[in-house]
Amino acid sequence: MTVFIVGVGPGDAELMTLKAARLLRDADAVVHDRLIGSEVLDYVSPVAERHDVGKTPGRPSPSQAAINALLIDLGRRFDTVVRVKGGDPFVFGRGVEEIRACAEAGVDTEVVPGVTSALAGPLAAGISVTERGLSSGVVIVTAHQDPGSAPLDWGALADVGLTIVVLMGARRSAEIRDGLILHGMSPTMPAAVVTSATHPDQHVWGGPLSELGREPIAAPSVLIIGPVARSTTQAADRSVPDPCAVDIARRTAITA
Ligand code: SAH
Repeated sequence: MTVFIVGVGPGDAELMTLKAARLLRDADAVVHDRLIGSEVLDYVSPVAERHDVGKTPGRPSPSQAAINALLIDLGRRFDTVVRVKGGDPFVFGRGVEEIRACAEAGVDTEVVPGVTSALAGPLAAGISVTERGLSSGVVIVTAHQDPGSAPLDWGALADVGLTIVVLMGARRSAEIRDGLILHGMSPTMPAAVVTSATHPDQHVWGGPLSELGREPIAAPSVLIIGPVARSTTQAADRSVPDPCAVDIARRTAITA
Protein backbone atom coordinates (compact mmCIF):
# COMPACT_ATOMS: atom_id res chain seq x y z
CA MET A 1 0.00 0.00 0.00
CA THR A 2 3.04 2.23 -0.35
CA VAL A 3 4.56 3.63 -3.52
CA PHE A 4 8.30 4.03 -3.02
CA ILE A 5 9.95 6.59 -5.32
CA VAL A 6 13.45 5.18 -5.44
CA GLY A 7 16.65 6.65 -6.88
CA VAL A 8 18.98 3.95 -8.19
CA GLY A 9 21.99 6.06 -9.17
CA PRO A 10 23.54 6.78 -12.56
CA GLY A 11 23.88 3.25 -13.93
CA ASP A 12 26.35 0.99 -12.12
CA ALA A 13 24.08 -1.19 -9.97
CA GLU A 14 26.62 -1.14 -7.12
CA LEU A 15 25.93 2.56 -6.69
CA MET A 16 22.41 1.82 -5.47
CA THR A 17 21.68 2.26 -1.79
CA LEU A 18 21.05 -0.83 0.35
CA LYS A 19 17.51 0.43 0.80
CA ALA A 20 16.95 0.66 -2.96
CA ALA A 21 18.23 -2.90 -3.47
CA ARG A 22 16.01 -4.23 -0.68
CA LEU A 23 12.92 -2.48 -2.03
CA LEU A 24 13.55 -3.80 -5.55
CA ARG A 25 13.78 -7.34 -4.17
CA ASP A 26 10.62 -6.90 -2.08
CA ALA A 27 8.53 -5.11 -4.71
CA ASP A 28 5.22 -6.54 -5.89
CA ALA A 29 5.25 -4.14 -8.84
CA VAL A 30 7.99 -2.04 -10.43
CA VAL A 31 7.59 0.96 -12.73
CA HIS A 32 10.73 2.04 -14.58
CA ASP A 33 12.09 4.02 -17.51
CA ARG A 34 14.03 2.61 -20.44
CA LEU A 35 17.31 4.19 -19.29
CA ILE A 36 17.50 2.05 -16.14
CA GLY A 37 20.36 -0.44 -16.49
CA SER A 38 19.45 -4.12 -16.76
CA GLU A 39 21.75 -4.94 -13.83
CA VAL A 40 19.60 -2.76 -11.60
CA LEU A 41 16.45 -4.53 -12.79
CA ASP A 42 18.10 -7.91 -12.12
CA TYR A 43 17.35 -7.20 -8.44
CA VAL A 44 13.60 -7.30 -9.13
CA SER A 45 11.81 -10.53 -8.17
CA PRO A 46 10.76 -12.60 -11.21
CA VAL A 47 7.18 -12.66 -9.92
CA ALA A 48 6.86 -8.87 -9.64
CA GLU A 49 4.76 -6.98 -12.18
CA ARG A 50 6.99 -4.83 -14.39
CA HIS A 51 5.90 -1.69 -16.20
CA ASP A 52 8.28 -0.01 -18.65
CA VAL A 53 7.08 3.57 -19.06
CA GLY A 54 10.16 4.76 -20.94
CA LYS A 55 10.35 6.32 -24.36
CA THR A 56 10.52 3.65 -27.06
CA PRO A 57 11.41 4.85 -30.56
CA GLY A 58 8.37 4.72 -32.83
CA ARG A 59 5.88 4.47 -29.95
CA PRO A 60 4.31 7.39 -28.09
CA SER A 61 5.70 7.51 -24.55
CA PRO A 62 3.22 7.51 -21.66
CA SER A 63 2.37 10.99 -20.40
CA GLN A 64 3.23 11.99 -16.84
CA ALA A 65 -0.52 11.90 -16.08
CA ALA A 66 -0.69 8.29 -17.30
CA ILE A 67 2.32 7.35 -15.14
CA ASN A 68 0.71 9.02 -12.12
CA ALA A 69 -2.52 7.10 -12.75
CA LEU A 70 -0.60 3.82 -13.05
CA LEU A 71 1.20 4.44 -9.74
CA ILE A 72 -2.08 5.21 -7.99
CA ASP A 73 -3.70 2.07 -9.38
CA LEU A 74 -0.73 -0.14 -8.38
CA GLY A 75 -0.50 1.57 -4.99
CA ARG A 76 -4.10 0.57 -4.27
CA ARG A 77 -3.59 -3.05 -5.36
CA PHE A 78 -0.16 -3.95 -3.98
CA ASP A 79 1.75 -3.70 -0.70
CA THR A 80 5.07 -2.53 -2.14
CA VAL A 81 5.25 -0.60 -5.39
CA VAL A 82 8.63 0.72 -6.53
CA ARG A 83 8.86 3.60 -8.97
CA VAL A 84 12.49 3.39 -10.12
CA LYS A 85 14.23 6.66 -10.98
CA GLY A 86 17.68 7.15 -12.47
CA GLY A 87 20.08 9.08 -10.25
CA ASP A 88 18.26 10.96 -7.50
CA PRO A 89 14.46 11.14 -7.79
CA PHE A 90 14.33 14.85 -6.93
CA VAL A 91 17.03 16.04 -9.36
CA PHE A 92 15.13 16.74 -12.59
CA GLY A 93 13.29 13.50 -11.92
CA ARG A 94 9.65 14.57 -11.53
CA GLY A 95 9.58 12.45 -8.38
CA VAL A 96 7.85 15.19 -6.44
CA GLU A 97 5.02 15.36 -9.01
CA GLU A 98 4.38 11.63 -8.62
CA ILE A 99 4.37 11.93 -4.84
CA ARG A 100 1.83 14.76 -4.98
CA ALA A 101 -0.43 12.83 -7.35
CA CYS A 102 -0.36 9.76 -5.07
CA ALA A 103 -0.98 11.90 -1.96
CA GLU A 104 -4.02 13.52 -3.59
CA ALA A 105 -5.39 10.05 -4.32
CA GLY A 106 -4.76 8.93 -0.72
CA VAL A 107 -1.91 6.57 -1.64
CA ASP A 108 1.06 6.54 0.76
CA THR A 109 4.50 7.29 -0.61
CA GLU A 110 8.08 7.25 0.56
CA VAL A 111 11.04 8.69 -1.30
CA VAL A 112 14.52 7.13 -1.30
CA PRO A 113 17.44 9.31 -2.41
CA GLY A 114 19.98 8.17 -4.97
CA VAL A 115 23.41 9.11 -6.28
CA THR A 116 22.79 11.81 -8.87
CA SER A 117 24.53 11.81 -12.26
CA ALA A 118 25.05 15.55 -11.79
CA LEU A 119 27.79 14.74 -9.24
CA ALA A 120 28.70 11.10 -10.00
CA GLY A 121 29.12 11.89 -13.72
CA PRO A 122 31.93 14.43 -13.21
CA LEU A 123 33.43 12.23 -10.48
CA ALA A 124 33.56 9.22 -12.80
CA ALA A 125 35.70 11.36 -15.14
CA GLY A 126 38.02 12.41 -12.31
CA ILE A 127 36.48 15.88 -12.04
CA SER A 128 35.87 17.26 -8.57
CA VAL A 129 33.17 19.89 -9.07
CA THR A 130 34.39 21.82 -6.01
CA GLU A 131 38.14 21.27 -6.39
CA ARG A 132 39.90 23.45 -3.83
CA GLY A 133 41.42 26.54 -5.39
CA LEU A 134 39.39 26.21 -8.59
CA SER A 135 35.73 26.33 -7.58
CA SER A 136 33.81 27.34 -4.50
CA GLY A 137 30.55 25.84 -5.66
CA VAL A 138 28.50 24.16 -8.33
CA VAL A 139 25.31 25.05 -10.14
CA ILE A 140 23.21 22.29 -11.71
CA VAL A 141 20.96 23.29 -14.60
CA THR A 142 18.86 21.58 -17.24
CA ALA A 143 19.18 22.52 -20.88
CA HIS A 144 15.71 21.13 -21.49
CA GLN A 145 13.30 23.87 -20.56
CA ASP A 146 9.64 23.13 -20.02
CA PRO A 147 7.36 25.33 -22.07
CA GLY A 148 6.23 28.11 -19.78
CA SER A 149 9.29 28.10 -17.50
CA ALA A 150 11.80 30.95 -17.66
CA PRO A 151 14.60 30.36 -20.21
CA LEU A 152 18.16 29.90 -18.93
CA ASP A 153 19.83 33.22 -18.14
CA TRP A 154 23.12 32.83 -20.05
CA GLY A 155 24.42 36.17 -18.73
CA ALA A 156 23.99 35.08 -15.10
CA LEU A 157 25.51 31.66 -15.81
CA ALA A 158 28.49 33.10 -17.72
CA ASP A 159 29.20 35.33 -14.71
CA VAL A 160 28.42 32.89 -11.92
CA GLY A 161 32.05 31.94 -11.20
CA LEU A 162 31.03 28.42 -10.14
CA THR A 163 31.27 25.04 -11.84
CA ILE A 164 28.31 24.61 -14.21
CA VAL A 165 26.86 21.11 -14.60
CA VAL A 166 24.26 20.71 -17.34
CA LEU A 167 21.85 17.78 -17.50
CA MET A 168 19.78 16.94 -20.59
CA GLY A 169 22.22 19.04 -22.58
CA ALA A 170 23.43 16.56 -25.23
CA ARG A 171 21.34 17.97 -28.05
CA ARG A 172 21.64 21.59 -26.94
CA SER A 173 25.40 21.68 -26.44
CA ALA A 174 26.01 24.13 -29.32
CA GLU A 175 23.37 26.47 -27.92
CA ILE A 176 24.97 26.26 -24.46
CA ARG A 177 28.46 26.95 -25.86
CA ASP A 178 27.29 29.92 -27.93
CA GLY A 179 25.10 31.33 -25.16
CA LEU A 180 27.92 31.33 -22.61
CA ILE A 181 30.55 32.75 -25.00
CA LEU A 182 28.17 35.43 -26.26
CA HIS A 183 27.70 36.55 -22.66
CA GLY A 184 31.41 36.85 -22.00
CA MET A 185 32.66 33.47 -20.85
CA SER A 186 36.13 32.77 -22.23
CA PRO A 187 36.15 30.39 -25.23
CA THR A 188 39.15 28.72 -23.59
CA MET A 189 37.20 27.85 -20.43
CA PRO A 190 37.66 24.08 -19.88
CA ALA A 191 34.65 21.93 -20.68
CA ALA A 192 33.98 18.21 -20.41
CA VAL A 193 31.29 15.78 -21.44
CA VAL A 194 30.74 12.49 -19.62
CA THR A 195 28.54 10.10 -21.57
CA SER A 196 26.98 7.00 -19.97
CA ALA A 197 28.78 7.73 -16.72
CA THR A 198 29.49 4.60 -14.62
CA HIS A 199 28.17 2.32 -17.40
CA PRO A 200 30.64 -0.07 -19.09
CA ASP A 201 30.63 2.17 -22.19
CA GLN A 202 31.38 5.41 -20.31
CA HIS A 203 33.03 7.98 -22.56
CA VAL A 204 34.74 11.26 -21.62
CA TRP A 205 35.45 14.24 -23.87
CA GLY A 206 37.44 17.27 -22.78
CA GLY A 207 38.34 20.50 -24.53
CA PRO A 208 37.90 24.24 -24.50
CA LEU A 209 34.35 25.61 -24.36
CA SER A 210 34.73 26.82 -27.97
CA GLU A 211 34.90 23.15 -29.07
CA LEU A 212 31.97 21.90 -26.99
CA GLY A 213 29.30 20.31 -29.18
CA ARG A 214 31.23 20.58 -32.47
CA GLU A 215 30.74 16.81 -32.70
CA PRO A 216 27.36 15.26 -31.85
CA ILE A 217 27.04 14.24 -28.19
CA ALA A 218 25.26 10.99 -27.35
CA ALA A 219 22.71 10.79 -24.53
CA PRO A 220 22.78 10.41 -21.61
CA SER A 221 25.54 12.95 -21.02
CA VAL A 222 26.55 15.36 -18.29
CA LEU A 223 28.25 18.57 -19.42
CA ILE A 224 30.72 20.26 -17.09
CA ILE A 225 31.96 23.80 -17.68
CA GLY A 226 34.53 25.50 -15.47
CA PRO A 227 38.20 25.39 -14.48
CA VAL A 228 37.68 22.05 -12.68
CA ALA A 229 37.19 20.40 -16.10
CA ARG A 230 40.79 21.23 -17.05
CA SER A 231 42.13 17.71 -16.45
CA THR A 232 39.99 16.39 -19.30
CA THR A 233 41.01 19.32 -21.52
CA GLN A 234 44.64 18.38 -21.22
CA ALA A 235 43.88 14.69 -21.63
CA ALA A 236 42.22 15.46 -24.96
CA ASP A 237 45.16 17.49 -26.29
CA ARG A 238 47.97 14.97 -26.43
CA SER A 239 50.24 17.25 -28.49
CA VAL A 240 51.23 19.34 -25.45
CA PRO A 241 53.17 18.03 -22.44
CA ASP A 242 50.64 17.21 -19.80
CA PRO A 243 50.99 19.09 -16.52
CA CYS A 244 47.91 17.35 -15.15
CA ALA A 245 49.18 13.80 -15.37
CA VAL A 246 48.22 13.23 -11.77
CA ASP A 247 44.63 14.18 -12.50
CA ILE A 248 44.49 11.84 -15.44
CA ALA A 249 45.99 8.97 -13.47
CA ARG A 250 43.42 9.60 -10.80
CA ARG A 251 40.67 9.54 -13.39
CA THR A 252 41.86 6.24 -14.75
CA ALA A 253 41.95 4.79 -11.27
CA ILE A 254 38.40 5.91 -10.57
CA THR A 255 36.91 4.62 -13.82
CA ALA A 256 38.89 1.37 -13.88
N1 SAH B 1 17.40 12.22 -11.70
C1 SAH B 1 18.54 12.03 -12.59
C2 SAH B 1 18.52 13.02 -13.74
C3 SAH B 1 17.33 12.88 -14.66
S1 SAH B 1 17.41 13.94 -16.05
C4 SAH B 1 19.83 12.13 -11.77
O1 SAH B 1 19.80 12.57 -10.61
O2 SAH B 1 20.88 11.72 -12.28
C5 SAH B 1 18.23 12.88 -17.22
C6 SAH B 1 19.62 13.42 -17.48
O3 SAH B 1 20.52 12.98 -16.48
C7 SAH B 1 20.24 12.96 -18.79
O4 SAH B 1 19.80 13.74 -19.88
C8 SAH B 1 21.70 13.20 -18.51
O5 SAH B 1 22.03 14.58 -18.61
C9 SAH B 1 21.79 12.83 -17.04
N2 SAH B 1 22.24 11.43 -16.84
C10 SAH B 1 21.55 10.45 -16.22
N3 SAH B 1 22.29 9.32 -16.16
C11 SAH B 1 23.48 9.61 -16.73
C12 SAH B 1 24.67 8.87 -16.95
N4 SAH B 1 24.81 7.61 -16.57
N5 SAH B 1 25.70 9.50 -17.58
C13 SAH B 1 25.60 10.78 -17.96
N6 SAH B 1 24.49 11.52 -17.78
C14 SAH B 1 23.45 10.96 -17.16
